[in-house]
Amino acid sequence: MDAEARLLALRLRLAATGHEGAVAVLARLGVRYAVEYEGGEEESSEDEDPFFTGFRAVKPPARPRRLAHYCVPFECATWLVTRRRVEMRRGMCMVPPRDMVHVATHHFKAVLLRQMAVLRHALVTMSDDENERLGPILARIVAFWQHETMRQGAGSDYSSSRARTRITLKDIDAMARQHFPLCMSHLHRKLRENHHLKYDGRVQYRMFLKGLGLTVQESILFFRSEFVKVIPPAKFDKEYTYHIRHSYGLEGARKDYSPFDCGQIVHGSAPRHGQYHGCPFKHWDSTTLRSELVGCWGLDACVATEIASQAAGGRPQSACQGFFNARHGISYDLVAGSSSVCGAIVQHPNVYVEASYSMTSRLQPGQVAQE
Ligand code: SF4
Repeated sequence: MDAEARLLALRLRLAATGHEGAVAVLARLGVRYAVEYEGGEEESSEDEDPFFTGFRAVKPPARPRRLAHYCVPFECATWLVTRRRVEMRRGMCMVPPRDMVHVATHHFKAVLLRQMAVLRHALVTMSDDENERLGPILARIVAFWQHETMRQGAGSDYSSSRARTRITLKDIDAMARQHFPLCMSHLHRKLRENHHLKYDGRVQYRMFLKGLGLTVQESILFFRSEFVKVIPPAKFDKEYTYHIRHSYGLEGARKDYSPFDCGQIVHGSAPRHGQYHGCPFKHWDSTTLRSELVGCWGLDACVATEIASQAAGGRPQSACQGFFNARHGISYDLVAGSSSVCGAIVQHPNVYVEASYSMTSRLQPGQVAQE
Protein backbone atom coordinates (compact mmCIF):
# COMPACT_ATOMS: atom_id res chain seq x y z
CA MET A 1 0.00 0.00 0.00
CA ASP A 2 2.89 2.36 0.81
CA ALA A 3 4.43 1.51 -2.54
CA GLU A 4 1.15 2.35 -4.33
CA ALA A 5 0.87 5.64 -2.44
CA ARG A 6 4.48 6.53 -3.27
CA LEU A 7 3.85 5.73 -6.91
CA LEU A 8 0.77 7.97 -6.97
CA ALA A 9 2.69 10.81 -5.30
CA LEU A 10 5.48 10.44 -7.84
CA ARG A 11 3.05 10.52 -10.76
CA LEU A 12 1.32 13.59 -9.41
CA ARG A 13 4.64 15.38 -8.92
CA LEU A 14 5.79 14.51 -12.42
CA ALA A 15 2.49 15.56 -14.01
CA ALA A 16 2.66 18.82 -15.92
CA THR A 17 -0.63 20.03 -14.40
CA GLY A 18 0.83 21.31 -11.12
CA HIS A 19 -1.42 20.75 -8.11
CA GLU A 20 -4.48 20.15 -10.27
CA GLY A 21 -3.68 16.44 -10.58
CA ALA A 22 -3.88 16.05 -6.79
CA VAL A 23 -7.16 17.98 -6.65
CA ALA A 24 -8.54 15.85 -9.49
CA VAL A 25 -7.71 12.68 -7.52
CA LEU A 26 -9.48 14.13 -4.50
CA ALA A 27 -12.50 15.02 -6.62
CA ARG A 28 -12.70 11.47 -7.93
CA LEU A 29 -12.67 10.26 -4.32
CA GLY A 30 -15.48 12.71 -3.53
CA VAL A 31 -13.36 15.01 -1.35
CA ARG A 32 -13.82 18.81 -1.46
CA TYR A 33 -11.98 21.48 0.51
CA ALA A 34 -12.59 25.19 0.93
CA VAL A 35 -9.94 27.43 -0.57
CA GLU A 36 -8.57 30.81 0.43
CA TYR A 37 -7.18 33.35 -1.98
CA GLU A 38 -4.44 35.83 -1.41
CA GLY A 39 -6.16 38.75 0.27
CA GLY A 40 -8.32 36.51 2.45
CA GLU A 41 -11.29 35.64 0.18
CA GLU A 42 -12.80 32.21 0.84
CA GLU A 43 -14.64 29.79 -1.45
CA SER A 44 -15.23 26.10 -1.91
CA SER A 45 -12.48 24.39 -3.89
CA GLU A 46 -15.21 23.27 -6.24
CA ASP A 47 -15.86 26.89 -7.19
CA GLU A 48 -12.28 27.71 -8.03
CA ASP A 49 -10.50 24.71 -9.28
CA PRO A 50 -10.20 24.27 -13.05
CA PHE A 51 -10.91 20.54 -12.63
CA PHE A 52 -14.39 21.24 -11.38
CA THR A 53 -15.08 23.97 -13.86
CA GLY A 54 -14.89 21.39 -16.62
CA PHE A 55 -18.22 19.93 -15.50
CA ARG A 56 -20.39 23.01 -15.47
CA ALA A 57 -20.54 26.57 -16.59
CA VAL A 58 -18.84 28.96 -14.22
CA LYS A 59 -18.70 32.67 -14.58
CA PRO A 60 -15.10 33.80 -15.00
CA PRO A 61 -13.83 35.74 -11.99
CA ALA A 62 -14.08 39.45 -12.27
CA ARG A 63 -10.36 39.82 -11.66
CA PRO A 64 -7.47 37.33 -11.57
CA ARG A 65 -7.03 35.90 -8.11
CA ARG A 66 -4.23 33.73 -6.78
CA LEU A 67 -5.05 30.67 -4.76
CA ALA A 68 -3.26 30.86 -1.42
CA HIS A 69 -4.15 27.54 0.20
CA TYR A 70 -6.72 24.82 0.83
CA CYS A 71 -8.32 24.50 4.29
CA VAL A 72 -7.80 20.84 5.23
CA PRO A 73 -8.68 19.14 8.56
CA PHE A 74 -5.41 18.26 10.31
CA GLU A 75 -6.17 14.51 10.35
CA CYS A 76 -6.02 14.54 6.54
CA ALA A 77 -2.63 16.26 6.49
CA THR A 78 -0.76 14.38 9.20
CA TRP A 79 2.35 13.97 7.01
CA LEU A 80 2.64 17.77 6.81
CA VAL A 81 1.66 18.38 10.44
CA THR A 82 4.23 15.97 11.91
CA ARG A 83 6.95 17.65 9.85
CA ARG A 84 5.71 21.13 10.77
CA ARG A 85 5.39 22.01 7.15
CA VAL A 86 1.95 23.55 7.34
CA GLU A 87 0.35 26.53 9.06
CA MET A 88 -2.67 25.80 11.28
CA ARG A 89 -5.62 28.09 11.91
CA ARG A 90 -8.67 27.22 14.01
CA GLY A 91 -7.84 23.49 13.83
CA MET A 92 -7.51 23.54 10.04
CA CYS A 93 -4.31 23.18 8.05
CA MET A 94 -3.65 25.89 5.48
CA VAL A 95 -2.17 23.61 2.81
CA PRO A 96 -0.45 25.37 -0.09
CA PRO A 97 -1.40 23.98 -3.52
CA ARG A 98 2.02 22.35 -4.05
CA ASP A 99 1.48 20.17 -0.93
CA MET A 100 -1.98 18.91 -1.90
CA VAL A 101 -0.26 15.77 -3.18
CA HIS A 102 0.19 14.65 0.47
CA VAL A 103 -3.52 15.12 1.14
CA ALA A 104 -4.38 13.19 -2.03
CA THR A 105 -2.14 10.24 -1.04
CA HIS A 106 -3.67 10.23 2.45
CA HIS A 107 -7.17 9.75 1.01
CA PHE A 108 -5.91 7.31 -1.61
CA LYS A 109 -4.42 5.06 1.12
CA ALA A 110 -7.63 5.27 3.16
CA VAL A 111 -9.66 4.13 0.14
CA LEU A 112 -7.21 1.29 -0.56
CA LEU A 113 -7.53 0.14 3.07
CA ARG A 114 -11.32 0.13 2.85
CA GLN A 115 -11.25 -1.78 -0.42
CA MET A 116 -8.84 -4.36 1.00
CA ALA A 117 -11.21 -4.90 3.94
CA VAL A 118 -14.05 -5.47 1.45
CA LEU A 119 -11.86 -7.90 -0.51
CA ARG A 120 -10.90 -9.79 2.65
CA HIS A 121 -14.59 -10.17 3.51
CA ALA A 122 -15.36 -11.30 -0.06
CA LEU A 123 -12.61 -13.95 0.11
CA VAL A 124 -14.06 -15.44 3.27
CA THR A 125 -17.51 -15.74 1.74
CA MET A 126 -16.31 -16.93 -1.69
CA SER A 127 -17.80 -20.18 -3.01
CA ASP A 128 -15.57 -23.21 -3.75
CA ASP A 129 -15.85 -22.64 -7.51
CA GLU A 130 -14.81 -19.02 -7.24
CA ASN A 131 -12.05 -19.96 -4.82
CA GLU A 132 -10.65 -22.47 -7.28
CA ARG A 133 -10.72 -19.95 -10.11
CA LEU A 134 -9.48 -16.86 -8.26
CA GLY A 135 -7.24 -18.46 -5.60
CA PRO A 136 -4.19 -19.02 -7.85
CA ILE A 137 -4.50 -15.52 -9.32
CA LEU A 138 -4.58 -13.94 -5.86
CA ALA A 139 -1.65 -16.13 -4.75
CA ARG A 140 0.37 -14.82 -7.69
CA ILE A 141 -0.49 -11.23 -6.82
CA VAL A 142 0.63 -11.76 -3.21
CA ALA A 143 3.83 -13.45 -4.42
CA PHE A 144 4.52 -10.60 -6.82
CA TRP A 145 4.28 -7.98 -4.08
CA GLN A 146 6.52 -10.04 -1.81
CA HIS A 147 9.12 -9.98 -4.56
CA GLU A 148 8.64 -6.25 -4.94
CA THR A 149 9.17 -5.78 -1.17
CA MET A 150 12.37 -7.78 -1.48
CA ARG A 151 13.57 -5.74 -4.43
CA GLN A 152 12.73 -2.32 -3.02
CA GLY A 153 14.05 -3.11 0.45
CA ALA A 154 17.40 -4.15 -0.97
CA GLY A 155 18.54 -0.55 -1.21
CA SER A 156 17.43 0.36 2.31
CA ASP A 157 19.68 1.35 5.15
CA TYR A 158 19.36 -1.12 8.03
CA SER A 159 21.54 0.61 10.61
CA SER A 160 19.96 0.50 14.07
CA SER A 161 18.40 3.93 13.88
CA ARG A 162 16.41 2.96 10.78
CA ALA A 163 15.34 -0.60 11.63
CA ARG A 164 11.82 -1.25 10.38
CA THR A 165 11.01 -4.70 11.76
CA ARG A 166 11.93 -4.73 15.46
CA ILE A 167 12.55 -7.77 17.58
CA THR A 168 13.07 -8.25 21.29
CA LEU A 169 15.02 -10.89 23.21
CA LYS A 170 11.74 -12.43 24.28
CA ASP A 171 10.69 -13.39 20.75
CA ILE A 172 14.07 -13.98 19.14
CA ASP A 173 13.81 -17.80 19.13
CA ALA A 174 10.36 -17.76 17.50
CA MET A 175 11.47 -15.12 14.99
CA ALA A 176 14.60 -17.12 14.12
CA ARG A 177 12.57 -20.21 13.38
CA GLN A 178 9.78 -18.45 11.56
CA HIS A 179 11.30 -15.47 9.77
CA PHE A 180 15.12 -15.55 9.61
CA PRO A 181 16.83 -16.59 6.39
CA LEU A 182 18.81 -19.81 6.55
CA CYS A 183 22.19 -18.09 7.06
CA MET A 184 20.96 -16.33 10.21
CA SER A 185 18.77 -19.08 11.64
CA HIS A 186 21.80 -21.37 11.34
CA LEU A 187 23.98 -18.91 13.27
CA HIS A 188 21.26 -18.54 15.88
CA ARG A 189 20.94 -22.29 16.31
CA LYS A 190 24.69 -22.77 16.60
CA LEU A 191 24.96 -20.00 19.17
CA ARG A 192 22.25 -21.63 21.26
CA GLU A 193 23.88 -25.09 20.89
CA ASN A 194 27.55 -24.18 21.42
CA HIS A 195 27.13 -20.98 23.48
CA HIS A 196 29.81 -19.45 21.29
CA LEU A 197 30.43 -18.16 17.77
CA LYS A 198 33.78 -17.46 16.17
CA TYR A 199 34.66 -13.94 15.02
CA ASP A 200 33.09 -13.90 11.52
CA GLY A 201 29.88 -15.53 12.74
CA ARG A 202 29.63 -13.09 15.65
CA VAL A 203 30.01 -10.08 13.36
CA GLN A 204 27.57 -11.36 10.71
CA TYR A 205 24.93 -12.24 13.28
CA ARG A 206 25.17 -9.24 15.60
CA MET A 207 25.01 -6.78 12.68
CA PHE A 208 21.91 -8.57 11.40
CA LEU A 209 20.30 -8.34 14.85
CA LYS A 210 21.23 -4.69 15.04
CA GLY A 211 19.39 -4.21 11.73
CA LEU A 212 16.34 -5.78 13.37
CA GLY A 213 16.37 -3.12 16.05
CA LEU A 214 18.16 -4.96 18.89
CA THR A 215 19.66 -2.23 21.08
CA VAL A 216 23.29 -2.33 22.17
CA GLN A 217 22.25 -3.28 25.71
CA GLU A 218 20.03 -6.09 24.42
CA SER A 219 22.80 -7.30 22.14
CA ILE A 220 25.33 -7.44 25.00
CA LEU A 221 22.77 -9.18 27.20
CA PHE A 222 21.93 -11.70 24.49
CA PHE A 223 25.50 -12.74 23.61
CA ARG A 224 26.61 -12.59 27.24
CA SER A 225 23.81 -14.91 28.36
CA GLU A 226 25.15 -17.59 26.00
CA PHE A 227 28.91 -17.01 26.22
CA VAL A 228 29.04 -17.05 30.04
CA LYS A 229 27.93 -20.69 29.88
CA VAL A 230 31.39 -21.58 28.55
CA ILE A 231 33.68 -18.66 29.52
CA PRO A 232 34.00 -16.58 32.72
CA PRO A 233 31.75 -13.47 32.74
CA ALA A 234 34.79 -11.22 33.31
CA LYS A 235 36.37 -12.53 30.12
CA PHE A 236 33.24 -11.68 28.14
CA ASP A 237 33.07 -8.17 29.64
CA LYS A 238 36.75 -7.58 28.84
CA GLU A 239 37.01 -9.11 25.36
CA TYR A 240 33.59 -9.04 23.72
CA THR A 241 31.60 -6.06 25.01
CA TYR A 242 33.90 -3.55 23.30
CA HIS A 243 33.29 -5.10 19.86
CA ILE A 244 29.51 -5.04 20.29
CA ARG A 245 29.62 -1.38 21.32
CA HIS A 246 31.95 -0.72 18.38
CA SER A 247 29.34 -2.14 15.96
CA TYR A 248 26.85 0.39 17.28
CA GLY A 249 29.24 3.30 16.78
CA LEU A 250 29.93 3.75 20.49
CA GLU A 251 33.66 2.96 20.40
CA GLY A 252 36.60 3.53 18.05
CA ALA A 253 35.68 5.35 14.83
CA ARG A 254 32.10 5.74 16.13
CA LYS A 255 30.56 4.78 12.81
CA ASP A 256 26.96 3.51 12.65
CA TYR A 257 27.73 0.30 10.73
CA SER A 258 25.04 -1.39 8.63
CA PRO A 259 24.34 -5.13 8.48
CA PHE A 260 25.85 -7.16 5.64
CA ASP A 261 23.82 -7.64 2.49
CA CYS A 262 23.73 -10.93 0.59
CA GLY A 263 26.49 -9.87 -1.79
CA GLN A 264 28.90 -9.28 1.10
CA ILE A 265 28.00 -12.57 2.75
CA VAL A 266 28.02 -14.64 -0.44
CA HIS A 267 31.37 -13.22 -1.60
CA GLY A 268 32.93 -13.13 1.89
CA SER A 269 35.25 -15.77 3.29
CA ALA A 270 33.90 -19.34 3.39
CA PRO A 271 33.41 -20.88 6.85
CA ARG A 272 36.09 -23.33 7.97
CA HIS A 273 35.80 -26.06 10.59
CA GLY A 274 33.90 -24.77 13.64
CA GLN A 275 32.69 -21.62 11.86
CA TYR A 276 29.05 -21.01 10.88
CA HIS A 277 29.04 -17.70 9.04
CA GLY A 278 28.49 -17.27 5.27
CA CYS A 279 25.59 -18.21 3.02
CA PRO A 280 24.41 -21.85 3.14
CA PHE A 281 23.29 -21.62 -0.49
CA LYS A 282 26.80 -20.64 -1.50
CA HIS A 283 29.08 -22.34 1.00
CA TRP A 284 27.39 -25.66 1.76
CA ASP A 285 27.62 -28.73 -0.43
CA SER A 286 24.40 -29.99 -2.06
CA THR A 287 23.98 -33.03 0.19
CA THR A 288 24.28 -31.03 3.42
CA LEU A 289 21.95 -28.34 2.09
CA ARG A 290 19.34 -30.80 0.89
CA SER A 291 19.30 -32.76 4.14
CA GLU A 292 19.02 -29.51 6.14
CA LEU A 293 16.06 -28.36 4.02
CA VAL A 294 14.24 -31.67 4.36
CA GLY A 295 15.32 -32.70 7.88
CA CYS A 296 15.24 -29.38 9.73
CA TRP A 297 12.75 -27.39 7.73
CA GLY A 298 10.38 -30.08 6.51
CA LEU A 299 10.55 -29.12 2.84
CA ASP A 300 9.25 -31.48 0.21
CA ALA A 301 12.13 -33.59 -1.18
CA CYS A 302 11.55 -32.40 -4.78
CA VAL A 303 11.51 -28.76 -3.75
CA ALA A 304 14.67 -29.26 -1.67
CA THR A 305 16.39 -30.90 -4.65
CA GLU A 306 15.37 -28.03 -6.94
CA ILE A 307 16.66 -25.45 -4.43
CA ALA A 308 19.93 -27.36 -3.91
CA SER A 309 20.45 -27.58 -7.68
CA GLN A 310 19.93 -23.81 -8.05
CA ALA A 311 22.51 -23.30 -5.31
CA ALA A 312 24.93 -25.75 -6.96
CA GLY A 313 24.39 -23.90 -10.25
CA GLY A 314 25.87 -20.73 -8.74
CA ARG A 315 22.57 -18.95 -7.97
CA PRO A 316 22.58 -18.76 -4.16
CA GLN A 317 20.15 -15.85 -3.91
CA SER A 318 17.63 -17.51 -6.26
CA ALA A 319 17.93 -20.66 -4.15
CA CYS A 320 17.32 -18.56 -1.03
CA GLN A 321 14.23 -17.08 -2.72
CA GLY A 322 13.09 -20.63 -3.41
CA PHE A 323 13.53 -21.42 0.29
CA PHE A 324 11.51 -18.32 1.17
CA ASN A 325 8.72 -19.31 -1.24
CA ALA A 326 8.62 -22.87 0.01
CA ARG A 327 8.48 -21.73 3.63
CA HIS A 328 5.63 -19.35 2.89
CA GLY A 329 3.50 -21.71 0.87
CA ILE A 330 4.12 -20.04 -2.48
CA SER A 331 3.55 -22.70 -5.08
CA TYR A 332 6.33 -24.77 -6.57
CA ASP A 333 6.08 -23.31 -10.08
CA LEU A 334 6.70 -19.91 -8.52
CA VAL A 335 9.74 -21.33 -6.75
CA ALA A 336 11.14 -22.43 -10.07
CA GLY A 337 10.06 -19.40 -12.06
CA SER A 338 10.35 -16.63 -9.50
CA SER A 339 13.23 -14.76 -11.03
CA SER A 340 11.78 -14.64 -14.51
CA VAL A 341 8.21 -13.92 -13.42
CA CYS A 342 8.89 -11.18 -10.94
CA GLY A 343 12.48 -10.12 -11.62
CA ALA A 344 13.58 -10.16 -7.98
CA ILE A 345 15.54 -12.38 -5.65
CA VAL A 346 16.69 -12.13 -2.04
CA GLN A 347 19.19 -9.31 -1.73
CA HIS A 348 19.50 -8.73 2.00
CA PRO A 349 18.87 -10.92 5.07
CA ASN A 350 17.03 -8.08 6.82
CA VAL A 351 14.76 -7.57 3.81
CA TYR A 352 14.03 -11.29 3.90
CA VAL A 353 12.83 -10.94 7.51
CA GLU A 354 10.72 -7.93 6.66
CA ALA A 355 9.06 -9.68 3.72
CA SER A 356 8.51 -12.85 5.75
CA TYR A 357 7.09 -10.97 8.71
CA SER A 358 4.75 -8.85 6.62
CA MET A 359 3.53 -11.91 4.74
CA THR A 360 2.76 -13.86 7.92
CA SER A 361 1.13 -10.93 9.66
CA ARG A 362 -1.02 -10.40 6.56
CA LEU A 363 -2.22 -13.99 6.78
CA GLN A 364 -2.52 -14.04 10.57
CA PRO A 365 -2.83 -10.49 11.88
CA GLY A 366 -0.85 -9.87 15.05
CA GLN A 367 0.54 -13.39 15.32
CA VAL A 368 3.82 -15.19 14.75
CA ALA A 369 2.77 -18.37 12.98
CA GLN A 370 3.43 -21.51 14.95
CA GLU A 371 5.41 -24.45 13.57
FE1 SF4 B 1 21.44 -15.27 3.76
FE2 SF4 B 1 21.37 -13.86 1.51
FE3 SF4 B 1 22.39 -16.34 1.54
FE4 SF4 B 1 19.79 -15.96 1.79
S1 SF4 B 1 21.04 -15.47 -0.01
S2 SF4 B 1 21.02 -17.32 3.03
S3 SF4 B 1 19.72 -14.09 3.00
S4 SF4 B 1 23.18 -14.55 2.61
